Amino acid sequence: MSFPLLSPLLGQDGYPTAARKTVSRSNQRKERPSSLPRTPMRERDPSERTGDFEEVSLGYSEEEAVREASRCLQCRKRPCVAGCPVEVDIPAFIRLIREGEHAAAAAKIKEKNNLPAICGRVCPQENQCEAECTLGKKGEPVAIGRLERFAADWEATHKGGVSPDLPPPTGKRIAVVGSGPAGLTCAGDLARMGHQVTVFEALNAPGGVLVYGIPEFRLPKSIVKREVEYVQSLGVRILLDHVIGCTLTLQDLMRDGYEAVFIGIGAGLPVFMGIPGENLNGVYSANEYLTRSNLMKAYLFPDYDTPIKRGKRVAVIGGGNVALDSARTALRLGAEEVSIVYRRSRAEMPARAEEIAHAEEEGIQFRFLTLPVRILEKDGWVRGMVCQRMELGEPDESGRRRPIPVEGSEFEMEVDLVIVAIGTRANPLLPSTVPGLRLNRWGYIEVDPETGRTSLPNVFAGGDIVTGSATVIEAMGAGKKAARAIHRMLTGEEALI
Ligand code: FAD
Ligand code: SF4
Repeated sequence: MSFPLLSPLLGQDGYPTAARKTVSRSNQRKERPSSLPRTPMRERDPSERTGDFEEVSLGYSEEEAVREASRCLQCRKRPCVAGCPVEVDIPAFIRLIREGEHAAAAAKIKEKNNLPAICGRVCPQENQCEAECTLGKKGEPVAIGRLERFAADWEATHKGGVSPDLPPPTGKRIAVVGSGPAGLTCAGDLARMGHQVTVFEALNAPGGVLVYGIPEFRLPKSIVKREVEYVQSLGVRILLDHVIGCTLTLQDLMRDGYEAVFIGIGAGLPVFMGIPGENLNGVYSANEYLTRSNLMKAYLFPDYDTPIKRGKRVAVIGGGNVALDSARTALRLGAEEVSIVYRRSRAEMPARAEEIAHAEEEGIQFRFLTLPVRILEKDGWVRGMVCQRMELGEPDESGRRRPIPVEGSEFEMEVDLVIVAIGTRANPLLPSTVPGLRLNRWGYIEVDPETGRTSLPNVFAGGDIVTGSATVIEAMGAGKKAARAIHRMLTGEEALI
C-alpha cells in the first residue's frame, strides 16, 4: 500500500520530514513538542481506494499517536473540553496516550462517550473541540479526533470490549425510540446509571445514519457494530423492526410500564427540488440511494444482488456530507463520471473540508453556481439535466450568500443517474400519533434545550428530530442531557456521569 499524498511529508522512518527538521533544530534550541507540526494520518491511495469500499483513512500507529499526544499543552483552562458536547476529559486522555497508557486513555474517554471510535472517525472536530484548542490559535490544533480513534481502536484490538462496573439496578424502566447516536447515548448513559433500558428501532439494524447513511469507506459497519455491542454490554436491550407510531404507539409504551420515553428518531424524510422530471426512473433521494448501498448491502456486490441503478454519468445535487457520500459511493459502484452540482460556491459548501479534499482526489467533478431546473427523459429513464448558472448576491437568513439565477444561462448535462441530496426533514409518522406533543412549524419536536423535556410528562427528545439535520456529536450531546434529566426526574438525584 502506498501513500503518495503523504510521501512528500514523511521520511523513511515515517516521521514527518518537516517535523524531523524541527526536532533536530529543537534539540539545539530545546523547542517544545507543541511546536511540532500536526502528525498526518495515513490514507489509502485514491487510485486504489476508489476500486473498493474499504476505509480511506488508516488511523495512527502507536508511535504517531504518542508523538501527536506530546504536542498537547495540558492547558489549565482546558478550552477543548468546553468544545465537546459530551464533555470528554480531553487533556486527561491525551496525557494517558503520551504516557503509553492506551487502555486507560480509552477508559477515560468512555467515562463520557459511549461511541469513541465512531466520533473519532466522523465528528467535525474542526468545528468542535479542535476549534477551541489553544495550539490552533497560532498554528495547528492537536488532532484530538485522530487520538480518540486511536485509543478506541487500540483498546478493541488489544483488550477486547471493556465495560465499566455498573451500579445496583434502580428498577426503573425506560424506553428509547430510535438507535441513532442520540438514542444510543441516552440508552447507554441511563444503563450506566442503573436503569433498565429498551431501545425500539424501526430498521433491521441498529445505528441510525451511522449504519444506513455513512458509507463503509468512512465508517466501517464493523466499528458501528462494535460500539453498539458495547452499549448492549451495559445491559441495553435493542428491539429491531419496531416502528413506534405503527407497530406500537408511545401510549402503548407508557401503558407497558415504561416510566420515561426518549424520542431520538432523527430527521430522515428526504426533501426534493420540485422540478419537472424528478419522478423519472434513475432519480434517487440520497437517503434511498445510500440505504440501498449501505443497509441493503449493494456495496457488497456480487455477494448481495441489491437492486440499485449503477449510473455511468452521475449528478449529485447538494453540497453537504450527504452529497459527497453519495458521489463517492456512485464512483465505487462503477460510475465513469460523477459531478457534484451545487448552487452556491465552494466557500458555502457545508461538507467537511477533509471530505471535499478526499472527493477531489478521487476525481469527483464540482460544478459550482449551478442549479438543476429540469430532468430530461428517454423511455421513462433519465437521459440528462437542464441547469442554470447562478451568481452570488447578499447573504440570506443562513448567513451564506444567496444564489441568484443568471438569465439565459441554461445548459444541458448528459447524465443517466441523478441523486438529490439537498436535505431531509422530520418524518411525521411518530409525532402524528402522539396527541399533545408540541412541534415547531417545520414539524420538529419542541424541547427544553437543557433537559430535552417535551410538552408531555415523562417524554423527552433529542438529536435531529429536535434540531433538524445536525451532527453525530450534537445528537449524542442531546442524548446525554436527556439521560441526566430522566435520571433526576426518576430518582431525585443528580447523575454522576
Ligand atoms: P438518526 O441517526 O437519524 O437515527 C434515528 C433512528 O431512529 C434511525 O435508526 C431510525 O430508523 C429510527 N427511527 C425513526 N423513526 C422511528 C420510529 N417511528 N420508531 C422507531 N425507530 C425510528 N454527522 C457528522 O457529525 N459527521 C458526518 O460525517 C456526517 N455524515 C453524514 C452522512 C450522511 C449520509 C447523513 C445522512 C448524515 C450525516 N451526518 C454526519 C449527520 C448525522 O449522522 C446525524 O446528525 C445524526 O445521525 C443524528 O442522530 P439521531 O440519533 O438524531 O438520528
Ligand atoms: Fe491540549 Fe489543545 Fe486541549 Fe490545550 S486545548 S489541553 S493543547 S487539546
